[in-house]
Amino acid sequence: MVTKKTTRRPAKPPAPCPDCKSDGQTSETFLVGGRKKHESTARQEALCMTCLGTGEAPTP
Ligand SMILES: [Zn+2]
Repeated sequence: MVTKKTTRRPAKPPAPCPDCKSDGQTSETFLVGGRKKHESTARQEALCMTCLGTGEAPTP
């Protein structure tokens, strides 16, 4: 009799994104001035490019 071994994965919570701290968004300075591209002091909320807004660290 062959018993198939099942590996059960424990449900662990997803790791928070290291970049946005599980916020899903990053505030960053944006560049203004067309070609000159000098940083403005204003900041804008941007979608976190690491987790794509999910707030979870991407798993490979
Ligand atoms: Zn993120």
